[in-house]
Amino acid sequence: MYCNNSCQKFKVTSFSGKGRYVEGQKRCPQCEVFILWDGLWCPCCGRLLRTKPRAKKLKRKLALNKNR
Ligand SMILES: [Zn+2]
Ligand SMILES: [Zn+2]
Repeated sequence: MYCNNSCQKFKVTSFSGKGRYVEGQKRCPQCEVFILWDGLWCPCCGRLLRTKPRAKKLKRKLALNKNR
């Protein structure tokens, strides 16, 4: 399936600066947009959405603290 622009309804236009993935936004590699969507799959094209788990970020922070 391809992008049929229904992702525009879920497209994220406001950005608080905390980090998109942190706020639960997901990126669709097919539509190339950040959307606010609870599911794992894009409601528009059906592709698997990209999410970055918070755990990864925390791990990186811990590693940085160790180096100090
Ligand atoms: Zn789309
Ligand atoms: Zn999509």
